[in-house]
Amino acid sequence: MLDQAIALLDRTSAFYGRAQPFIVLLLLLLIVVALAANAILNRGMPRIGGKIGRRAVDMPAVPVPAGFSRVDCREITNFVATSEAEPYANVKAYARAAVALRPGMVRVYRVAACNTRIEIPAETPDYNRIDAAEALALLRELPDPRLVYRLQLNDQPSLLDPWVRKVTGHDIYSLGNATLTAVIVIYRPDLRLDREIGITLLHEWLHLLAFKSAKAIRRFKRADKIERLPALQFEPVSFGDSRTPIYEAWCILGETLLGYDETAARQAALASPVHAVILWRRIEKILRKVPKRLASTRLANFQARSAFMRMEVAPKALAVRANRRWWKGLLRQGAAPRVGP
Ligand SMILES: [Zn+2]
Repeated sequence: MLDQAIALLDRTSAFYGRAQPFIVLLLLLLIVVALAANAILNRGMPRIGGKIGRRAVDMPAVPVPAGFSRVDCREITNFVATSEAEPYANVKAYARAAVALRPGMVRVYRVAACNTRIEIPAETPDYNRIDAAEALALLRELPDPRLVYRLQLNDQPSLLDPWVRKVTGHDIYSLGNATLTAVIVIYRPDLRLDREIGITLLHEWLHLLAFKSAKAIRRFKRADKIERLPALQFEPVSFGDSRTPIYEAWCILGETLLGYDETAARQAALASPVHAVILWRRIEKILRKVPKRLASTRLANFQARSAFMRMEVAPKALAVRANRRWWKGLLRQGAAPRVGP
């Protein structure tokens, strides 16, 4: 019996030994076909943050400001909306018909000691745009700037705005966008907006964090069963990802927990302790991994909030969870919950 089993095992492993190169080849082929299909389907589709092109050698060099390792001037193809989205049935039809290519030049500032770059249009803007040093200062406030690959300041409104206006019925202009490829675009970052630019950057950074936090996002969603988050101002517009509402809830809570307003941060954490603890655990993990020279300029601030989370919020989150179990047990026993004082 044992001999037979061993012989069978030998035969199967010999089969796998012979077939292995073909299996690998087949898998590679499948990947290539999937990539090609994706490229064909998305051909000509606009891209958030545009398409960076060749280095422009004939542009005058600009001095490298403190905190950057080099500055290049590059060609860029921007995508801009040319009309409202009303006549179009879906976002793809809108993007194909109502978005135009606009070539331009962009200065790419490489941040010293990390792979992040800040892109700023070479042309003079018609508003009071923040400069490279100001953008870097905002980037350095983040718990970990390395999550961002390209931070782009864009003088045009978002190409998705007309579609979002159509779907929501609100007169909306996006302040920022984040993509799966670690690009953050900030639209028309006017100096007069002041701290709103910092909050926008933080919000978009939280999107990048959410993309990397599948497990925490699942927990965050599950927490909805025992604790209701404050309602969003309006339904976020999804572009094909069913997780959009949960990502948006994560970013909105996160921007308050990490924002400049200490009181608002504490109030938000105490109002949704279970969600806050799940999100903050992710932030703490990120903070632990950042090299010292890239540590946030707001680190002391974040550390104080960590202490508050441990002392005041975590016990409350535990109580909410325990209470929930108690309720469930009570209902299972068939006891009616008591109403009134
Ligand atoms: Zn968002």
